[in-house]
Amino acid sequence: MGIGYGFPPNEVFAKMTKELICQRCTACCRWPGYVKISQEEADRMAEHLEIDREEFMAKYTRLVYHPIGLCLRERPDYTCVFLVGNECVVHDAKPQQCRDFPNRWNFPGFEKVCMARPADEIEGRPAAGATGGPAELEAGDGVE
Ligand code: SF4
Ligand code: SF4
Repeated sequence: MGIGYGFPPNEVFAKMTKELICQRCTACCRWPGYVKISQEEADRMAEHLEIDREEFMAKYTRLVYHPIGLCLRERPDYTCVFLVGNECVVHDAKPQQCRDFPNRWNFPGFEKVCMARPADEIEGRPAAGATGGPAELEAGDGVE
């Protein structure tokens, strides 16, 4: 799963000289790592999915060793539990860690695996809703 690439956001990142625009390639939803979430973020995603906190915590979260803590679950192939096809089913309520990559945090060499590009290098922004669209989670959808 996930965007954390092994560890939560830290101070080892490339300083951005230009804001990069996500091309929604979904690579960061597929590589091993941790998507760390707060309780507030969990509650926001639960509300987005129209389920209660207990169901959300049981189905979609896991506790990882200190200091990481509460994270989203992953599937056996490391994809995030909320990636369905090429869409994030919690796109409108996704965690800050997902929103901040790669402009607010990243890791050395991230450009080799992330398709985000400066605005002046691309012809158009990806269509709104390219992720987080109509896809829905199915019962028992591959959660570890
Ligand atoms: S919550 Fe959405 S954006 Fe974040 S890793 Fe999972 S699928 Fe990707
Ligand atoms: S372009 Fe980068 S930030 Fe956007 S989905 Fe792909 S890997 Fe993630």
